[in-house]
Amino acid sequence: LFVVLEGGDGAGKSTQARRLAATLRAEGHEVVRTREPGGTPLGERIRELVLDPAHAPVDPRAEALLFAAARAAHAEQLIRPALAAGRVVVCDRFADSSAAYQGAGRGLGTDRVRELNEWAAAGLVPDLTVLLDVPAGTGRARREDRDGGAGDRLETEPDAFHDAVRRAFLDLAARSPGRYLVLDAGRPEAELAGAVAAAVHERLAA
Ligand code: C5P
Repeated sequence: LFVVLEGGDGAGKSTQARRLAATLRAEGHEVVRTREPGGTPLGERIRELVLDPAHAPVDPRAEALLFAAARAAHAEQLIRPALAAGRVVVCDRFADSSAAYQGAGRGLGTDRVRELNEWAAAGLVPDLTVLLDVPAGTGRARREDRDGGAGDRLETEPDAFHDAVRRAFLDLAARSPGRYLVLDAGRPEAELAGAVAAAVHERLAA
């Protein structure tokens, strides 16, 4: 089963990915927890390159292509083999992040970026995508709590950028309701974890 956590910066994706992986492992499932951009040595290098402030601003097309390249390696070398071995893959971000950030946020067009990434991932689509929906202002406050706001490459982006990203995620969810679970990221952490686990259990039983 391929489970992806999506949402804006500061939505709590990593926390929920960690909790979900722990819950599933305690139940005896073999779990691979991974993330994008990253997930493989090549992908982590690409992540470093793109996020390095020395390279800012990264041209939006260059950014979309680099993330797509990282994703191609990740899908082929890590995710598909893990799924083939019967493991549950819990991934922090996947192709929909590119559609939202590069497609909507950077203005390249969500459909175009989606097509690029369908090609990059060779058609690999999550079985379940959990969208932790967070308003731009809340996400900003949470990021500042987490890291003082320093070093975040999107920190200088206006709330309008994060709003566009948020709307794109909600739009993607509305287009694929069967694959998506949309949760209000403002709910208590344990409650969210329960809802995520319930949705995963449902799919594992199907
Ligand atoms: O989710 P994570 O914090 O690991 O992402 C690292 C940074 O890259 C974040 O600021 C995130 O918003 C950004 N990002 C992006 N485009 C993507 C994925 C992540 O701009 N497709």
